[in-house]
Amino acid sequence: MSAPIVIIGAGIAGLVAAIDLQAARREVLVLDAAPDVGGRVRTTVVNGLIIDHGFQVLFTAYPTLKRYLDFDALALRKFLPAARIARDGQTSLIGDALANPSLLLDTIFARAVGLGDKLRLLALRRFAQQLTIDECFGARFAGISTREFLHARGFGTPVIDGFFAPFYGGILLDRTLATSASILLFTFKMLADGDTVVPAGGIGALTQQMAARLTPGTVRTGAAVRSLVTTNGRVTGVRLDDDAVIAAAQVVIATDAPMAARLAATVSLTLPEPTGARGCTTLYFTARRSPIPGKALWLNADHNAIVSHAVTLTDVAPEYAAGGRTLIAATSVGRPADFDDDMLDAAARRELCLMGNMTADTAGFERVALWRVPYSQYEQAPGWREHRPSIACGMPGLWRASETLHSSSLEGAARGGEMAAKALLHAT
Ligand SMILES: Cc1cc2nc3c(=O)[nH]c(=O)nc-3n(C[C@H](O)[C@H](O)[C@H](O)COP(=O)(O)OP(=O)(O)OC[C@H]3O[C@@H](n4cnc5c(N)ncnc54)[C@H](O)[C@@H]3O)c2cc1C
Repeated sequence: MSAPIVIIGAGIAGLVAAIDLQAARREVLVLDAAPDVGGRVRTTVVNGLIIDHGFQVLFTAYPTLKRYLDFDALALRKFLPAARIARDGQTSLIGDALANPSLLLDTIFARAVGLGDKLRLLALRRFAQQLTIDECFGARFAGISTREFLHARGFGTPVIDGFFAPFYGGILLDRTLATSASILLFTFKMLADGDTVVPAGGIGALTQQMAARLTPGTVRTGAAVRSLVTTNGRVTGVRLDDDAVIAAAQVVIATDAPMAARLAATVSLTLPEPTGARGCTTLYFTARRSPIPGKALWLNADHNAIVSHAVTLTDVAPEYAAGGRTLIAATSVGRPADFDDDMLDAAARRELCLMGNMTADTAGFERVALWRVPYSQYEQAPGWREHRPSIACGMPGLWRASETLHSSSLEGAARGGEMAAKALLHAT
């Protein structure tokens, strides 16, 4: 039997590459260090509660990703296309009234954003929607920060700090708005072009569904690759942590960027991988009564917020908690995400109550999980696209499938996997 194409990593990029290579009748083996498939898109069920490994959503408009998923089978549950902004004990609902006309009155009367800025938001929505995804990532926008771009579109500091910072804290895990304007436009376009959802079975249902498309036995979990193996200047296999060597016709690295750089270094290759990381910590609480009800994402616009954004998941997807319980996800980003568990727990209880004007006794919180994901997304600072890795890694037999080929997102990872499979099939 000939050696398989070995894919290192069973996240979205690796799974998409494996699906395409198998569809082209290539022998494929996917190795993943973790005990289950999915990488950053995983879910654990704890006492009948669906706990995603960090709060995460799917935009149904992601064009590449959706080709690999059966949306009907995922039983997608929709968020309201709106954000509830909480500041100093006051809240305002700002929504996309074009997508959901019932949001019109709330949005018109929302005090958190002035009328001029509401009109600018509408114009920005139209602007982003008219762009193609490639145009969003064009040099015109990729080279400037979100903050600079918003200033250039006429938004003032109050709305930038009071609305965009918490909003993009929720989407880009970056309240500083230092991320490239391309990402702002890309996500604005995705928000306008489709729905924001979670599968009824948790976000991990996405990768479980993808893995189920592969021939049984294709994926080996609990198999950490320590190094690449070369023969006469060509990558011919991988060495696992237990020292076992697996021969490979080709090797595709589909890990996160820091691990890809480490694996490449084992054969003295330097890959131009992004180095910075955006992390977050999500706390999950059950509650007797949620202080932040509804299907919209709640944004904490207070200046010293520790919880950046939060949602009552069971109001969006009742399936997230068996027995009719209420499940809340509260996420910290930036420096607060690194605070210790007790500090985060106390701050989350306090801030959730403050956001919804409720006492802790009425809310009756019980913490059921806390997920830290220090590497949730890589940094996409202005100009990052000029330093993307290439699919061919500069050594025969070695390929890169990764979100870093496009953007740090579910769509970016799907594109990375698809591009790698296509290039490999074309070349071999
Ligand atoms: C909390 C959170 C919130 C997010 N929010 C959103 C969102 O709302 N929308 C959005 O579009 N994106 C979001 N993202 C980003 C999105 O999840 C990622 O961009 C995407 O999942 C990356 O997929 P990937 O396949 O490139 O990498 P990964 O999912 O990281 O997969 C890499 C795999 O490689 C494996 N691996 C690593 N090293 C080795 C080794 N040595 N040997 C074997 N296997 C190895 C890992 O175990 C992992 O399974 C979020 C991410 C997180 C964590």
